[in-house]
Amino acid sequence: MTPVAWAVAAVAFGVGTLVGALLLRRKAKQEVVARTLVPHRTRQIVSALQPGAIVVRTDGRAAYSNHASASLGLARPDGALHEGVADIARRAWQRGETLEEDVEVKRGVLGNVSIVHVRVVPLDEELALAIANDNTEARAAEQTRREFAVNVSHELKTPIGAMSLLAENIEDAAEDTELVRQFAGKMRREARRLTKLIQEIIQISRLQGGESVLDHEELDVASVVHEAIEGARLAAETKNISLVTDLRERPEVLGDRDLLVMAVRNLIENAVAYSDPGSRVTISVGSRDEVVSIAVLDQGIGIDAKDQERIFERFYRADPARARDTGGTGLGLSIVKHVALQHGGTVSVWSQPAVGSTFTLTLPGFEEAAA
Ligand code: ADP
Repeated sequence: MTPVAWAVAAVAFGVGTLVGALLLRRKAKQEVVARTLVPHRTRQIVSALQPGAIVVRTDGRAAYSNHASASLGLARPDGALHEGVADIARRAWQRGETLEEDVEVKRGVLGNVSIVHVRVVPLDEELALAIANDNTEARAAEQTRREFAVNVSHELKTPIGAMSLLAENIEDAAEDTELVRQFAGKMRREARRLTKLIQEIIQISRLQGGESVLDHEELDVASVVHEAIEGARLAAETKNISLVTDLRERPEVLGDRDLLVMAVRNLIENAVAYSDPGSRVTISVGSRDEVVSIAVLDQGIGIDAKDQERIFERFYRADPARARDTGGTGLGLSIVKHVALQHGGTVSVWSQPAVGSTFTLTLPGFEEAAA
């Protein structure tokens, strides 16, 4: 090495050592501050807590914090504290009382926002304790519930509005018996739609609450399909659509019979509703690698690629006008999805406009353990 290189290396070494020493000193100082303000036993307790726990100082820094608070993005071991928590603590001291609030925390390179519930209890003039829990999922669930309530009210308005209009029409046409009969028929259809809508709303609320899958019995999938077909037969016959089955395999699943029949029936009724008269709907059952699949194939109108992802959402209809004609509520596939999830399964679609669609429900197979 040349003398210049030696000199550069020596300077770099010196600077490195100095920075290292400074960092160590800073850490040691933080340790000392933490130790003086927060006794050893308290630190042990804070570390053992499952929620995020931070001992906050009046200068808006953390005197001590546990791992969970770091994972939540609220505090770092060097004392850095999320401004939102520091702010709640300031106000808690001012008022001399416990304060609870939600704090938005940006995390990760994508800047995802999580909502953290923080409760700050002033301990004395110098320290406060902040306890934090991730509230993101609970908030999202609350938002979904609120949206659902809004959608339900909106969906109920349509048939109720139609019925009230039809009642007025009947009043106006009281003398014309033929017209009265026509309006009464339409009214009955709207009432049927309303009943179906209410039944499906109840079903989906139960499914989301997870309370309905209480029965888990051994089921012969073919018999589930037979029962579903019987339920959909009248609708198929009315449109002269033949229901063809391929039930050569006889797999078994562990599940709730009524829910599975309802899911398969929904798929068959959709296949019938969105197909032209005289066409064919095929229902087949298969089993592979301990996964049972029930496929419902139609030669109907098909579904645009852009709608395929969304049709499993509640109240989503690819073609609202047509769905209304078929008496659709927009809830059928969402019910199928929840039934599948509750059984540890999935539902998927393959479709091409003007060619047809195949909906496939998969479920974990059940094989009795060898004795
Ligand atoms: P709906 O009660 O309106 O049929 P679903 O949740 O069962 O509600 O279905 C959502 C939407 O998906 C329907 O409105 C329709 O646009 C589309 N869809 C469902 N099944 C089929 C199918 N077999 N063929 C074509 N479109 C379908």
